[in-house]
Order: sequence, then structure tokens, then C-alpha cells
Amino acid sequence: MGYKLLIATGGLVLFVLYVSQSYSGSEQHPKSTNGSSRQDAGIDVLTYSESGYRLGPLSQERVRELAKGLSSEERHVLLEEGTERAFTGSLVENKAKGVYTCRLCGLPLYDAGAKFKSGTGWPSFFQPFDSAHVREVLDKKSGTARTEIECARCRSHLGHVFEDGPRPTGLRYCMNSASLKFYAKGSELPAESRPVEAATAYFAGGCFWGIEDRFQQVPGVIDAVSGYQGGQVANPGYKEVSKGGTGHAETVRVAFDPGRVSYPTLLKWFFKFHDPTQKNRQGPDIGEQYRSAIFAADDKQLDAAKTFIQEQASSTKFGGRTIATLVERAGQFFEAEEYHQDYHAKHGGSCSIDSGE
Ligand SMILES: [Zn+2]
Repeated sequence: MGYKLLIATGGLVLFVLYVSQSYSGSEQHPKSTNGSSRQDAGIDVLTYSESGYRLGPLSQERVRELAKGLSSEERHVLLEEGTERAFTGSLVENKAKGVYTCRLCGLPLYDAGAKFKSGTGWPSFFQPFDSAHVREVLDKKSGTARTEIECARCRSHLGHVFEDGPRPTGLRYCMNSASLKFYAKGSELPAESRPVEAATAYFAGGCFWGIEDRFQQVPGVIDAVSGYQGGQVANPGYKEVSKGGTGHAETVRVAFDPGRVSYPTLLKWFFKFHDPTQKNRQGPDIGEQYRSAIFAADDKQLDAAKTFIQEQASSTKFGGRTIATLVERAGQFFEAEEYHQDYHAKHGGSCSIDSGE
């Protein structure tokens, strides 16, 4: 890949700057990276937690719709930042195993294993189900600064967090029973309380740092991981693959939410992210490890990818140049070494991937 090539040779300074291009379909390309950073930046993009749940924010309209099912006490706590009186909540003494979800939107917030007896009169937990499922907001309403906890998906008020909890975290998440819904272990969770049923796709288009970074930013993509695919050797490492000869291509495994983004849309993004007319190379990165390839996870993806390539080949988009992208069924995918993951997000920079259009 270009950046690594530069380090290796110390020679010609050649950077091809990535120019963001918006796919002209219905989805807009977001400006920031994946995960909570988007949320913190106030960008309204649906994000996902590491444990695979859709986060927020929900639209105001959806919150209003969900709120129709609340009692007046629940509405007061969740939507008006109210606090129930100590020892009056239904979940203070609950010791059963299970999970506590947001009363409004169903996002899992606390596992029963993190509940402890605080003696305060409110359900207390020492850690959330997933740190991305709760948001901390500075609360100065009572005169002294406190940290309010709200649901990361629907932004409802849940309670506060204090630094006088037990080990291992030393935190006390002091919640209102009215903000929570409890599901005992073994009971069936509703769809909104279950993780997304993610689908997988694999794309190879030159430098995996770049392809991974681009896919991380596509709405509906849960995660993208750099790795190796399509070769003959088990457990290949970067050194072997970069020398060529193992048959692997630098490949990105994309976990996506089919309810938010379709496979054909991912194919369109893929062709925006690299130049599919370059055979066994992308810019200065030369070798079959940089080939353009789609590894289909199933027959449906295989058909969709073939159809897509035919459509692209017969269009005028690439000025009559032949599409070099190979399509085959996915074999085993090997994750690349840790230092290759999220490389652009951690280090910035851009590796040389050209758009073919
Ligand atoms: Zn919620």
C-alpha cells in the first residue's frame, strides 16, 4: 500500500489524497468515523454498539409514539427528568437474574449481575450492559453538579451515576425503577431488545486500511475488519501476504445491518471506494494481494455481485475500460494483525485508492 511503500523505500513522495465522493443514491455519506464519535459530534447517524445493538438517536416522532405506552409516573421520570421517591420503585428489591432494558425503547442497559444492594432506595448497578448504551450528561439543576444518565438510543432520562460504588468500577448507577423494564433470564426478549441480525460481506480493493475506513463510515455498517481472503495458506501474516505468492488479497470483512443498508448498495459504495478497472493493483500498490475482488458470502450475494458487475461493464461509467473485479464465493477469512485495524482512524493519513470514475 502506498503509505507503507513510502516508508519502505524512503523515495519518491507520492500521496494520492482521498477525495470523498458521495454516492448519488438515497444514503448520504457521513462526515465522521464510526461509533460513539459520530454521536458525540452531534451527527444524526444511526450507530451501533460493540455488542451489536442499534443505538440512536431515535426521531422525536418515534419517541412520541413510544411514549404513548407509558404510565404518568414513567413519563415523568423518562421524559421530564423526574425522580421517583426512594423505596417506592418496583425493582429496588429485585434479585432475579436477567436483564434491565430502557422502559421506553427496549435497549438493554444493565445485566442483573451488575446490580447491588446500595441501601439508597433506588435500583443500583456498578456497570452498564455496554458502555455505549448509556450516555453521561452534566446535570446542574440541583445546584451541585451531578452526572445524569440517559439512554443512548432514545435519550430518555434514567437516573444519575456517582463515584461511590463497589468494585470493580467504583461506580454507582442510581436508576429509577420507572425508567427500566426487567426481563427474567430465559424469557423472550422483544426485537428492540435483541442485537441486530448482522449480515457479512467481503471486499478487496487494494490497501485494506482505506477500504476498511471507507466502509466504517457507510450508514448501516456495523463494523469493518481488515484481513486476508482468497489464498492457499492458512493463518497468513502481513509479511507473507505482502510478498505475494500466498494468493490472498487484502480484504475487508463488513458486518452490516440489512434493515438499514442492502448488499447492492454496499456494492455501489465499493466501486466508489476504489478503481475496479485496475488489474492486480491500486495505484502504486502492485501485486495480486491488491486485486479487486468480491468474495460472496452466499449464492444470493454471488448473483447480486455478478449482476452488478455486468451492469457496470455495460455502462459508460468507466470509459470503456474493462472491469477487473473478480467475483467468487468466500473462503476462510483471516483477520489481519491488530496494528492494521482501524489504521486510518487511529493514525490519520490516506492510502492510495483511486476511484475509477
Ligand atoms: Zn431508550
